[in-house]
Amino acid sequence: MNIDFNKSNDGLVPVIIQNYLNNKVLMLGYMNEEAFNKTQEIGKVTFYSRSKNRLWTKGEESGNFLEVKSIAVDCDNDTVLIKAKPFGPTCHTGSTTCFKEETNHGFVYELEQTINDRIDCDNDTDSYTNRLFKRGINKVAQKVGEEAVELVIEAKDNNDDLFINEAADLMYHYLILLKAKGFKLEDVENVLKSRKNGPRRPE
Ligand code: AMP
Ligand code: ZN
Ligand code: ZN
Ligand code: ZN
Repeated sequence: MNIDFNKSNDGLVPVIIQNYLNNKVLMLGYMNEEAFNKTQEIGKVTFYSRSKNRLWTKGEESGNFLEVKSIAVDCDNDTVLIKAKPFGPTCHTGSTTCFKEETNHGFVYELEQTINDRIDCDNDTDSYTNRLFKRGINKVAQKVGEEAVELVIEAKDNNDDLFINEAADLMYHYLILLKAKGFKLEDVENVLKSRKNGPRRPE
């Protein structure tokens, strides 16, 4: 790979790190030639830290390494793009990525994002979400059906606590089903918006 480390005086090139499964940008760092070689050698993203003034293997203290899956260089050889598998959160703040995600629609969208993160992070084997998703669409759909029935049953009773918990269960499983079918909450929102002025009613 032919990388132009001498384009800038400090011998550093910017390196964009993407999650290899969902292409989300995780962070940006800089590498000199030594850092780049070490990254290839150990298979873990290693930057040249401008604040530490030394090679810095991301995750060296936290254990949140970035395992290299592929390396590409841009059109004029001065920027590197690495697809990586993240172990734990990439940002030192504890976030998945260093860039704030633009889902500011509210908590349910945040939940949708969390569900995506669980499913897209295939090393998260402890996650109920991940395990359910892997069992396939039919199983997920069945769970939605069960939760819907439980909600109906609680609606007929007078226990508000049970009712609201079943409502939460249904919403959570419904989001997983949307994901399993390749849709997003936003797609549902768009359908509902398009009906706003029309006479159409749900059956
Ligand atoms: P780590 O490489 O994850 O073991 O973190 C070691 C130190 O690097 C942390 O204490 C932070 O100061 C810094 N650091 C970790 N992750 C990031 C990041 N994504 N962006 C900037 N600095 C970071
Ligand atoms: Zn370039
Ligand atoms: Zn960060
Ligand atoms: Zn339930």
